[in-house]
Amino acid sequence: MAFQDWMKQANLIGGDWVGADSGATIDVTNPADGSVIGTVPKAGRAETERAIAAASAAFEGFAGMPLMERCNLLWKLHDALMDHQADLAELLTIEMGKPLAEAKGEIAIGAQYVRWFAEEARRAKGEIVPAGVNGRRILVTKHPIGVVGMITPWNFPSSMLARKVAPALAVGCPIVAKPATATPFSGLAWGALAEEVGYPKGVMNVVTGSARDIAGAMMDAFAVRKITFTGSTEVGKELIRQSADTVKKVSMELGGNAPFVVFDDADLDAAVEGAMVSKFRNAGQTCVCANRMYVQAGIHDAFVEKLVEKTRAMKVGDGLEAGVEQGPMIDMDAVEKVEEFVADAKAQGGEIVTGGARHAKGGTYFEPTVVTGATQAMKFATEEIFGPLAPVFKFETEEEAIEMANATVFGLACYAYTRDLGRAFRLNEGLQYGMIGINSGLITTVEAPFGGVKESGLGKEGGSQGLEDYLETKYVCIDGI
Ligand code: NAP
Repeated sequence: MAFQDWMKQANLIGGDWVGADSGATIDVTNPADGSVIGTVPKAGRAETERAIAAASAAFEGFAGMPLMERCNLLWKLHDALMDHQADLAELLTIEMGKPLAEAKGEIAIGAQYVRWFAEEARRAKGEIVPAGVNGRRILVTKHPIGVVGMITPWNFPSSMLARKVAPALAVGCPIVAKPATATPFSGLAWGALAEEVGYPKGVMNVVTGSARDIAGAMMDAFAVRKITFTGSTEVGKELIRQSADTVKKVSMELGGNAPFVVFDDADLDAAVEGAMVSKFRNAGQTCVCANRMYVQAGIHDAFVEKLVEKTRAMKVGDGLEAGVEQGPMIDMDAVEKVEEFVADAKAQGGEIVTGGARHAKGGTYFEPTVVTGATQAMKFATEEIFGPLAPVFKFETEEEAIEMANATVFGLACYAYTRDLGRAFRLNEGLQYGMIGINSGLITTVEAPFGGVKESGLGKEGGSQGLEDYLETKYVCIDGI
């Protein structure tokens, strides 16, 4: 198959591929050159309500499907993803811009999530708890929560859905998904894949169009018992408020502002490697990206020298070109935001050691950038950059590093490089983050619970916790035994 075969220009509602009721469409562009690659329906409330009705109708049958049948479907879904990895990755690069190798990696990790939850589904165990009185038994049982609404961002348009779709399908929850408008095809491809492997009609629905209308219909519907959202903290807060009216369970994977702390005793080369992958993957547009690099005074200059050398050597270009390490940014707003961070840092005495401007390639390409002399007063100290800009701060003591690292409302991922075991434990206890990478800049893995604390979110994706989020717990008291 070719990537075009996966480029569904319609919505999947109740097993049918359909357009918007109004016939309206939205153009989807390739950020590498601004060309229109296709269109998707501009759907809204009515279409979403039909998708929710189809999902509700499918719930009982799907939840009642024998466990091994559900697991086998997930295995087939995993195989389908890997069989079509090349085409799906090409589609992802064309609509999102990331280098093809990264897109292939994204499809692969999505498939790993599917396999993980195919395995975890068999361990959705309840328990029998000792009762306090004779003649009584206490059973705790697990049940699928019901229809799940999913809203996902553009930066990982395939794998952000994988972490939601896989556990939902594993336990028997039908889905209504709304992918980001900038990158809808990778989301619609999940509908096509589910159809290919034989999920019952109505189990997987994908709707594109107005975020407010689609999300509004999901939030208003009592039948949608859970909302899982990945995106900005601002929108996440709004959805938490809206969820109150029907008391939905919510999972929120929100923004980050990851500190990347390098101590004097670190393995310098490993720290620089980790910094590069953590900072520049996906052109800096990941929620777990190193946002602030705190480097201890004794290793600061050596670290900066190596970081700058590697940053200057990065190949920027169309993600489909061989050897490209950084693609275009998603849109002009994203470029302008990075420019604002650069201007603010410059105005406050920061030094732009490399990069700092739009790339000569034009469009939304931006130079990989390193700023030194960063301070806590600069905007990026508290805001998420979401671009290829690495600010380097200098610090003296461990206490100071922990204090600066925690000085944000965000608490998603953080990183630290040290060879001192005691310090590694102190960091684990002192850093207020949901995920901590010690001597690693790349920590996402299916076996672990991915998620943030503070304003970075609620709930976990991956690990055994990622299944729990799609289950309700019931308790049965059996008396008179
Ligand atoms: P966003 O603007 O919040 O959009 C995310 C999704 O929400 C999109 O599908 C968007 O639809 C939809 N949306 C927008 N406004 C909405 C509204 N008022 N009501 C309901 N839905 C709405 O975020 P983004 O710019 O796409 O993604 C970047 C953000 O996501 C960053 O903050 C990043 O840190 C975060 N992120 C977090 C994680 C994590 O796991 N914690 C992972 C990846 C990204 P449209 O596309 O139609 O606008």
